[in-house]
This record gives sequence, structure tokens and C-alpha cells, in this order.
Amino acid sequence: MQIQENFSLKRFNTFGIDAQARFFASFSNLNDLAALLTPDSRLTTHGSPLILGGGSNILLTGNINGWVLKNEITGIDIVKEDDEFVYLRTGAGENWHRFVLYCIDHNYAGVENLSLIPGNAGASPMQNIGAYGVELKDVFYELEAFHLLDKTLVKFNAGDCAFGYRDSVFKNRYRNQFVILTVCFRLSKQPRFNTSYGAIAQELEKAGVKELSIKAISDAVIRIRSSKLPDPAVIGNAGSFFKNPQIGIEQFQQLKKTFPGIVAYPMEDGSVKLAAGWLIEQCGWKGYRKGDAGCHAHQALVLVNYGDASGKEIYDLSTAILESVQQKFGVMLEREVNII
Ligand SMILES: Cc1cc2nc3c(=O)[nH]c(=O)nc-3n(C[C@H](O)[C@H](O)[C@H](O)COP(=O)(O)OP(=O)(O)OC[C@H]3O[C@@H](n4cnc5c(N)ncnc54)[C@H](O)[C@@H]3O)c2cc1C
Repeated sequence: MQIQENFSLKRFNTFGIDAQARFFASFSNLNDLAALLTPDSRLTTHGSPLILGGGSNILLTGNINGWVLKNEITGIDIVKEDDEFVYLRTGAGENWHRFVLYCIDHNYAGVENLSLIPGNAGASPMQNIGAYGVELKDVFYELEAFHLLDKTLVKFNAGDCAFGYRDSVFKNRYRNQFVILTVCFRLSKQPRFNTSYGAIAQELEKAGVKELSIKAISDAVIRIRSSKLPDPAVIGNAGSFFKNPQIGIEQFQQLKKTFPGIVAYPMEDGSVKLAAGWLIEQCGWKGYRKGDAGCHAHQALVLVNYGDASGKEIYDLSTAILESVQQKFGVMLEREVNII
């Protein structure tokens, strides 16, 4: 384990923000992590370390005067299986998309709609990643995490994680308290295809797919995502910067009178989810650029770094967007990206 000092994190966050970590190290097993966490003064002098996965859901707003520990625990094992399901345990440092491809290669169904989401498996329960009608909670079985102060190993089942829309207990009550070490998923041996969301069915038809398979769905999702979302290797971003806000039906009906074109989806609990991208676009932000910080020209929900924007510039842009949406629609957006 090499400990680096005053280490640039530019290559370690998909926004490409050039912030520095006072100390940086990677760990590939629990022993290495425990060794990095001693002496205890490292935690008390510098606060909780930042645990880093693929850096695809963070905005670094300044240098980190403490520890950044990159989780590189790898490995995929079968824990158990029966006629219906296989239970796969994966190291938190496994790349998410590689894990999806592994499942597809082995004909384990459930994660194909989540193809090509950047980042690592360990961060996937943090915000209950989701795309194309599937959320992580649909395939989650349990995870093992290490408590930074108690130095104990704790298992969490789905109920313990309190998954919500891009949310879990690790973003709230247990924020910065645990390092997720492994995640166990329950994948299905008999696929239940989910093609009703977004443009999947259309894309399958376009590709002339006659017989549905998890591979065909994954390929369709990959093609849609590649055509729609900016590639962080080309232009810095962290995907959707804001969550889609949920509002009550009365507020929605009022808004609909003033803005008949408002894009919204009814929720099972009677509330309504608004398309944050549409709200932002109506406020005139789509394609906006100031210096190297901007709002993507085709995806208003995605804030971008055209090169040398600072995290503070991106953050300030996000604040201006929040305020204008609040002013025009009376709706408060919430940031999805973790602000560090
Ligand atoms: C182009 C693009 C498209 C995206 N599309 C989607 C999408 O469709 N759906 C979606 O849900 N998300 C999407 N995202 C967001 C992102 O890919 C996910 O949130 C992903 O799970 C983040 O993983 P990561 O390893 O990069 O996490 P990081 O950015 O490294 O970390 C995110 C947070 O989790 C914490 N963390 C990371 N690993 C651990 C661990 N092992 N233990 C404890 N805490 C940890 C970090 O401290 C941080 O607070 C997209 C991002 C990009 C750039």
C-alpha cells in the first residue's frame, strides 16, 4: 500500500476536477483498509476519510485536507444457488458494467437494464442506482460493510438499507460511517424481461431482434445510452446532476394549468414525478456555458466540465439552476451528485 501526499484526484473523478487529496491510498482487502485506518488519530485529525469508487457520482468542490481511500476490492463469487436464483457476491471495487457483462455471459438475469452505468459495484447501493425501469433494490440481497469508528463488520439486508429513489441509509443516517466491502446480488435464472421503459422496445425493433434475450436488452441499453449521454472520457460529467422531483397531485394540477406541456409521470403512491430536465430546459439553461462549466446542450440534467472548470464553478451553476427552477415553478430540485 502506497500512501501518496498532495495527490491530484483529476483522473479519479469523472467530472475531471483537479482537486488534491492531502493523503491518498488504495486498498484491496480488509486488512489493508484496517492498517490504513490506524492510528485512530488519522480519523480524528482529518475527519472521516472519503471512500472512493469510480468517482462518477461526486463533485469535488475543493482540496481534501484529509484521507481519500480508493476501494479496489475485487472478485465475483457464487454464494449459493437454487433452481430459480443465483446469489453472486462481488467486491466493492469491481467495475459495475464489467459485473453486468459477467452476469450476461453467464445468463444471470436482472441487471441487463442497468448496463453501462459508470462506477463500481460498492457504490451501487449508496444511491440505489437505477435506469430503464430497474433499480438496484430489485436485485439486491445483502452487503457487508466496515464501520469506520467501531471497526466492526456489519451485514445489511435490503430492509436495513432503506432504499428509496436514488437513496439509501448510507446517504442519510449512516453517511460517511461505513465502507462497503462486498455486495451480494440475487440474479434470476429465468429472465423476466423489462422492455417497457424508455426507448428499449423501439431500439430492439430497430435492431431487428426477433428473440428477446438479456444480451439483446443490454446491447439496446448500451446503444441508447451511448447516443444520449456525454462520455465522461470526452467531456467531464457525473450523469444526472439532479433528481426528478416528486410533488403532490394538487400542486401538479396547478402547474399543469400554467405549463400544459409539463413532463410528468404518475407514481403508485398518488404523487407525481416531474422531469427535472424539462424544468431546467424551460428556465433556459440547456446549452448554457460560463467558462468551462456548463449545462449539456442535449441533456439539460447533465452539468459538464468542458476542461478546466473548478468544482466550485460547477456547484455555483447548480445553485443558480436550483434557484431559477424554484422561482419559475415553485419546485425545489435536489442534487443527486454527492457534493464533497
Ligand atoms: C455518464 C454517467 C451516467 C450515469 N448514469 C447513471 C444512471 O443511469 N443511474 C444511476 O443511478 N447513476 C448514474 N450515474 C451515476 C453513477 O454512475 C452511480 O451513482 C455510481 O453508482 C457511482 O459509482 P462510483 O463507484 O463512481 O461512486 P463514487 O462516485 O466513487 O462515490 C459515490 C459516493 O459513494 C461513496 N462510496 C463509493 N464507494 C463506496 C464504498 N465502497 N463504501 C462506502 N461508500 C462508498 C463515495 O464516498 C461517494 O459519496 C451516471 C454517471 C455518469 C458519469
